Amino acid sequence: RDACRWCRSGAVVGWKQGLMTLQPAPQRISILGATGSIGLNTLDLIGRTPERFTVEAVTANSNAEALADLARRHGARHAVVADPDAYKDLKAALAGSGIEAAGGPDALIEAAVRPAFGNCSALFCAVRNIFTLAAAQRGTTILLANKECLVSAGRLFMETARVSGATILPVDSEHSAIFQALDPAQKDGIDHVTLTASGGPFRTWSRERLAEARPEEAVRHPNWAMGAKVSIDSATLMNKGLELIEAHHLFALEPDRLRVLVHPESIVHGFVAYRDGSVVAQLAEPDMRTPIAYSLAWPERISAPTPRLDLAEMGKLTFERPDLDRFPALGLAIQAMKAGQGAATVLNAANEIAVKFYLQGRIRFPDIAQIVENVLEKQSHEGGSEPNSFADALALDRWSRDVARSSIPELLERTG
Ligand code: NDP
Repeated sequence: RDACRWCRSGAVVGWKQGLMTLQPAPQRISILGATGSIGLNTLDLIGRTPERFTVEAVTANSNAEALADLARRHGARHAVVADPDAYKDLKAALAGSGIEAAGGPDALIEAAVRPAFGNCSALFCAVRNIFTLAAAQRGTTILLANKECLVSAGRLFMETARVSGATILPVDSEHSAIFQALDPAQKDGIDHVTLTASGGPFRTWSRERLAEARPEEAVRHPNWAMGAKVSIDSATLMNKGLELIEAHHLFALEPDRLRVLVHPESIVHGFVAYRDGSVVAQLAEPDMRTPIAYSLAWPERISAPTPRLDLAEMGKLTFERPDLDRFPALGLAIQAMKAGQGAATVLNAANEIAVKFYLQGRIRFPDIAQIVENVLEKQSHEGGSEPNSFADALALDRWSRDVARSSIPELLERTG
């Protein structure tokens, strides 16, 4: 007799060769950040596999109309906007649908922890710390796309997940690749783990040209369609630095075992080099639906409507070392990973502020890394505090954002 691997429950569907077989009930998934690029891809996959997945809750920040449309189309039970001002619009858009609407940060936390079917809900998390943390404290299965929560409080977050019994499944394509290539039974046999980077839209640009790079050029990623923040992070290579820190926590790997290689075709997403000389890699066309499908169905596999990889057609794959002179953000992230949790918290918060200012056209492209460096230096001069609780991490995050904001006029004055 088979039981649902998620919740040890299921519906009896018939008899086969004299044995009772069970059809697992569809798994209910709550999607935090449903209106974003990752959320929409996830809903696309869920919509194609109704026998396996149904939507419990969908959330967004303020995009009430798009959220209501998604909730109706996917038969969600609940829809939540984090921004309380958007609640009225959401409620109006869902009138008569039977879908429960809610607004505000507390409602979002509730969506993150709501029991979906005994203990078998999964949370697809593409938004920040606190909501993901609430789910981790409840012991939920978390399909984690958002990297900032592991970067800014990874040690504490993984410890919380361990204590509560939460399962964290990586969604980021590089971490999904490592998750697929890394055999936990052979952890002692690992020499190093490499995450690949496309190099972003400015891979071949000179320093002089980079100084003039405009936000609309930076968000135009050559291989991936992504939200604005992660696109800018890809252009500075900070994204790869954040991913190194993410991998450090997810796979409990020491910083010295983690490497980055630029691979412009974005076909090899990551690989594990073992001590015996073997290198195990994961390859796929660059389409987020592949890693999302892997995390949704793990440890099984489901179909994803992605382009199939044709290596003969491709002919060759190329690799090069990252240039830390032109892309100093990656070097800063590596330093922060080695320095410890406090530096990583500072790096993440300062970078978010710098990217925001860049997207608003108020600073230049190289200023992003400069601001992050300034804030890291200030933290180091002030003793480099290590957060021992989420409250500490939050306080350090706020401090870093304030310092980043206040360093901007000074920076503009210095650079003219
Ligand atoms: P988007 O900017 O496209 O979407 C973000 C989503 O989160 C939207 O639904 C948005 O709602 C919601 N949101 C934004 N701010 C808040 C808030 N304060 N409270 C609650 N909800 C909020 O981002 P992506 O989907 O591209 O990325 C999501 C995460 O996944 C990021 O952490 C990114 O680093 C990571 N990631 C993304 C990849 C990609 O290919 N896109 C690849 C790997 C990781 P609204 O529409 O109302 O603004």
